[in-house]
Amino acid sequence: MHEASLALALAEELLDLLQKEGARGVLSFAVEVGELSGVEVEAFRQACEALIRTHPALSRAKLELRVVPARWRCRICGKTFGGDWWSVCQDCGPAGKDLLSGEELLLREVELEV
Ligand SMILES: [Zn+2]
Repeated sequence: MHEASLALALAEELLDLLQKEGARGVLSFAVEVGELSGVEVEAFRQACEALIRTHPALSRAKLELRVVPARWRCRICGKTFGGDWWSVCQDCGPAGKDLLSGEELLLREVELEV
């Protein structure tokens, strides 16, 4: 359900872009999905593909999903490391960390048919 509403928002974003650019259709688009975004990648892909097929301007678009790995920065030493919500800095332990990437869901590259 979550993935379906995300796919719908994405399709709307693409259609807005088409209108703004005065293009006829979308040939391809790439979406970055963060490892920690909570998005189930395969479910999201299926939801997107089902949705774009129903729209003539999107029906031939090729979808590329890129999974973005999580990156954290330690608040004590500034070192960056990967891992999930429970990962800790190897030097400082669970002292606190900030998420640099891995939570995004972003439309990255769109190739338009003009
Ligand atoms: Zn550290």
